[in-house]
Amino acid sequence: MTLPKTADIVIIGGGVMGASTAYHLAERGQKNIVLLEKEDFFGQGATGRCAGGIRYQFATEVNVRLSIESLPMFERFEEEIGQAVDYRRCGYLFLLSEEEDTNKFRKNVEMQHRLGVKTEWLEGDEVRRRLPLMRLQDIIAATWHADDALADPNGTVMGYINRGQQMGVKTLNAAEVTGICVDHGKISDVETSLGSISTPVLVNTAGPWAGVIGGMAGVNIPITPVRRQMLTTAPLSDIPADFPFVIDFAQSLYFHREGEGLLTGMSNPGEKPGFDQNIDPDWELTHLEAAIARLPLLEKAGLVAHWAGLYEVTPDAHPIYGKTPVEGFFVCAGFSGHGFMHGPVSGKLMAEFILEGQARTVDVSMLDLARFEEGRLVREYNVV
Ligand SMILES: Cc1cc2nc3c(=O)[nH]c(=O)nc-3n(C[C@H](O)[C@H](O)[C@H](O)COP(=O)(O)OP(=O)(O)OC[C@H]3O[C@@H](n4cnc5c(N)ncnc54)[C@H](O)[C@@H]3O)c2cc1C
Repeated sequence: MTLPKTADIVIIGGGVMGASTAYHLAERGQKNIVLLEKEDFFGQGATGRCAGGIRYQFATEVNVRLSIESLPMFERFEEEIGQAVDYRRCGYLFLLSEEEDTNKFRKNVEMQHRLGVKTEWLEGDEVRRRLPLMRLQDIIAATWHADDALADPNGTVMGYINRGQQMGVKTLNAAEVTGICVDHGKISDVETSLGSISTPVLVNTAGPWAGVIGGMAGVNIPITPVRRQMLTTAPLSDIPADFPFVIDFAQSLYFHREGEGLLTGMSNPGEKPGFDQNIDPDWELTHLEAAIARLPLLEKAGLVAHWAGLYEVTPDAHPIYGKTPVEGFFVCAGFSGHGFMHGPVSGKLMAEFILEGQARTVDVSMLDLARFEEGRLVREYNVV
């Protein structure tokens, strides 16, 4: 497809946020939408490299409310969008080994209950009973929510892209945005590797690159790319089919079933910000030692794949939604490592922002860009 000369709305980035935004705008009847993706395929950024976890368990009300809207959208995805996304309720189990975390998670569970999310509190002995394959002597307690789940990130992106295309969205790959023209404080043109396009509305859904895109329009969007990596193993016959998504919270170490094997990852707290997406072999060794200490059968596991991706981290670990100081320039980015699960609802919210001037489905007014300058940060403690 050649780049059109004009559009009513241009969206930058073909990850879950851009794809969902394009679909939700088109679904509401919006015409002349163009989505630009710099890579040869959609979903090659953070979305295609993520762990696919989707959960209700968060430490702030707004994140829980986003999950309450977004997770049922994954459940209905195949019916509504026509694409299978392997939605699988496996439950999330947060393992707690530090008193401080235990106290904070107790408060989280109370808040989640207030919002109707029935997270269960498990004492250490019950956790050890449920996970006999794991070494959990130091675990004080855990939180468990049976409806937390997994879904397929690539299926989700391509479902939205294909449905969007059927409704008239023009999607272009290998179309890198290289510049943004602002005229008298308003968006006017977008320069790309395929030429330039005039538009009054531009949506920045460039994930870890959203800060770079903001800079092109002279807008400071405080999003830092931080590398995270994981690996998958060959089949492990001892892992039961109902093995949950287990998170050792203090170590940011996690495991879930992937096919007949396991996926495991661990966040490096010392990782320097940057766009490097190569595997760090030293950290992989540290990760594997920690993973084997928790789950000794991993010692004999074969490696199937390993890769790195980028978290898109904001100063308060919450996303940025809505308008910017440049008229017509919107942002939906900065999900700080848990955005895949909020992709469906976020596209819906962006359609509301653009077409109605404000988000209605969930009140995300506190997650505006201005909060950083005005010192209204919203802390999320429950980041893995
Ligand atoms: C290792 C890892 C594990 C994760 N695990 C989970 C998890 O279990 N659950 C969860 O909910 N979230 C998880 N996340 C976070 C999740 O992946 C992200 O929050 C989410 O995918 C962000 O989506 P996005 O569309 O904003 O960004 P992206 O998917 O990165 O999409 C942005 C797109 O913009 C494109 N782009 C950038 N610059 C330009 C340009 N100049 N021109 C055109 N296109 C451009 C990029 O190529 C990219 O495709 C994980 C992330 C990582 C890295």
